[in-house]
Amino acid sequence: MSADHIRPVALISGGSRGIGRAVALRLAEDGYDISFCYRGDEQAAANPEKELTGTGARSLAVRVDVTDAEGVRAWVSRTEKDFGPIALAVTSAGITRDKPLLMMSDTEWHEVLDTNLDGVYHVCRAVVFPMLKRRAGSIVTVSSVVGLQGNAGQTNYAASKAGIVAFSRSLAKEVGRRGIRVNAVAPGLIDTDMSAALDDSVKDQVAERTALGRAGLATEVADAVAFLASGRATYITGAVLPVDGGL
Ligand code: NDP
Repeated sequence: MSADHIRPVALISGGSRGIGRAVALRLAEDGYDISFCYRGDEQAAANPEKELTGTGARSLAVRVDVTDAEGVRAWVSRTEKDFGPIALAVTSAGITRDKPLLMMSDTEWHEVLDTNLDGVYHVCRAVVFPMLKRRAGSIVTVSSVVGLQGNAGQTNYAASKAGIVAFSRSLAKEVGRRGIRVNAVAPGLIDTDMSAALDDSVKDQVAERTALGRAGLATEVADAVAFLASGRATYITGAVLPVDGGL
């Protein structure tokens, strides 16, 4: 790629594995340069880095914990310095610590809220200022059907994902007149490392309850994210798009 070839820049939290990784690859194929972060698994982060090179995209993989506001700000600044203005931010970093409420520790509650909800706040807080100055940009957050419907054993996770929905809709109302769109996807059961931790019987039951009768692929969520970010979705903001096979 020639140095004067301008590609839009996408920033993705949790881009080393699962849905975030599929989003990174899909957006690279759509013509974006990619800056993604991960929390600690260097080996996993090396995979999308290699795959992204093959697409012609520039890529930056940065080890940043999204619970660290200062670290996220530094990652955003470095991305804009190295690659140019961020056109799109996707917040995919997330964790589970499933337990019935009575057995849940304060640590398990706070880890999930800090990562899943504060993490989204930190990324959006850092990208929205430069986007507002340019009066352009798009944000796609990753919620979950669990944030809309609730799920036994996931009070912490469901609360964080419902918070993401309310956050995204509110931010969409704040920044829409300045040319910035904010949308969320709400995936159902998606085949990734996160869902691999579930018992097979639980996965079978959920798949059985979906209209399509199967779990989804990370690439199917990535397609929805790419659509919401694209020029085909210019009149869509504050939306929560289920990507759940009809669960
Ligand atoms: P994975 O466990 O496969 O991947 C999680 C990614 O997030 C990894 O890149 C991980 O990096 C990163 N990450 C986790 N914690 C942090 C942190 N504190 N700071 C920075 N990066 C972090 O998860 P999925 O791809 O399955 O999930 C992605 C998103 O989709 C999550 O928000 C999840 O809640 C949501 N979702 C997933 C569903 C599913 O069925 N899989 C269903 C509905 C929603 P590292 O490896 O270095 O820790």
